[in-house]
Amino acid sequence: MRCSGLMLLFEPLYLAYLMTTRSPFPLVQPLPSIAQRLEPEANRVVVSTNAADQRQQIIEYNALVIATGSSCKDDMPFKNLSNTESTKQGMQSLRERIATARSLVVAGAGLTGVELAGELGQEYGPSASKDTVVGELTQLKLKVMTNTRVVDVSTAPAGKQSLVLQRTDKVTDNAATIRTPKADLYIPAFSVRPNITFVPEEMLDFDGRVKIDRTTLQATRYANIFAFGDAANAQTATSKHADAQVRCLAPAMQHWLAGRPIPPNKADDTFVFAVTMGPNRGTGQLGSWRLWAWIIRGTIAKHLGTDYAPEIVAGNRTITQTRW
Ligand SMILES: Cc1cc2nc3c(=O)[nH]c(=O)nc-3n(C[C@H](O)[C@H](O)[C@H](O)COP(=O)(O)OP(=O)(O)OC[C@H]3O[C@@H](n4cnc5c(N)ncnc54)[C@H](O)[C@@H]3O)c2cc1C
Repeated sequence: MRCSGLMLLFEPLYLAYLMTTRSPFPLVQPLPSIAQRLEPEANRVVVSTNAADQRQQIIEYNALVIATGSSCKDDMPFKNLSNTESTKQGMQSLRERIATARSLVVAGAGLTGVELAGELGQEYGPSASKDTVVGELTQLKLKVMTNTRVVDVSTAPAGKQSLVLQRTDKVTDNAATIRTPKADLYIPAFSVRPNITFVPEEMLDFDGRVKIDRTTLQATRYANIFAFGDAANAQTATSKHADAQVRCLAPAMQHWLAGRPIPPNKADDTFVFAVTMGPNRGTGQLGSWRLWAWIIRGTIAKHLGTDYAPEIVAGNRTITQTRW
C-alpha cells in the first residue's frame, strides 16, 4: 500500500467539521454508533456502539439518509470494519501477513482484486510495460487464472490455506475442479455486500440494496428516507456514482426540508472505470474509449485519492468537484 502509515489514511471527521463550521453551537452531533434497526413506520432508528452492546439508544427522525455503504468478504479491510480501530488493526495484520507470506492467492478479478494484485506485484515483482489488465499482471510475474472460481477454502492447523477452484472452459463450457497447493495467505477480493442488516427486508431489492427512486433518491415507500451510494440501488456501486448522488442530494434535501419540489437527480450511467496496478501503471475505460495508462498514472495511481482525502473530510471538495 502506497502510504507511509495508517495515520495518513484516517482523518478525524468530527474535528474537521468543528474546524470548518462557523457556528459556536454546531448543529451536527457525533454519535459513535452503529445503526442496528430501522423502524420506518415509527420514524426511528435503534443504535448502539457495537453489535454486541445491549445499551441501545432510540433516535427519532424527521428525515433519514442511509449512507452505510458496503463491506468486503471475510472482514477484508478494503472497506471500513465495525469501527476505525478494528479497521486499522485489520490493515496492520494483513500487511504483516503479506510481508511474511511466501505464497499468496488473490481471488477476484474486479477492481479490488486487480489493484491489490498489481500493488503486490509492484512491491515484490520485476517491472513491466504491457497495457492490459491480464498482460500487466502477467508481466509482474503474477500467475493469472481466468474463468476460475473459488468454491472451497480450508485452513490447516499451521495456518496454511488450500483452495478448491472450478475452472470453466470458455469454448466447451465444461467445468474442471483444481486443488491449489497450500498457500500462506488467501485474500478474497470479491463479493462486496451492502451494509443493510438494520433495514427492513421489504425496503430492499433482490440484490439486498435499498430500493430508491433514482430521480429523487427517496426510498420507494418512505418519502422521508433517502439513500445513496453502495447501500442504495440507484446505480452500480462505485464512488463515482456515490459522489454524483451526494452532489445532487445535499442541495436537494434543503429544498425538500423547505417543502419545495426536489430537483431531479440526473443519473449518468456511462461506463467508466480506472484501475491501477501499482504506482506506475493502470488501465481503464470511459464509455467506448480505452483510458491510456499515462492518464491513470497522472491522476489516481500515485496517491489513490489519499492526497485530497483531508479536503473531502474538511467539506471543501468531493471526489470529483474540487470546489464544494
Ligand atoms: C478496494 C476498492 C477499490 C475501489 N476503487 C474504486 C475506484 O477506483 N473508483 C470507484 O468509483 N469506486 C471504487 N470503489 C468503490 C467505492 O469505494 C464505493 O463505491 C464507495 O466507497 C461507496 O461510498 P458509500 O459512501 O456509499 O459507502 P462507504 O464508503 O462504504 O461508507 C459507508 C460508511 O458507513 C459506515 N457504516 C456501515 N454500516 C453502518 C451502520 N450500520 N451504522 C452506521 N454506520 C455504518 C461504514 O463504516 C462507512 O464509514 C472501490 C472499492 C474498493 C473496496
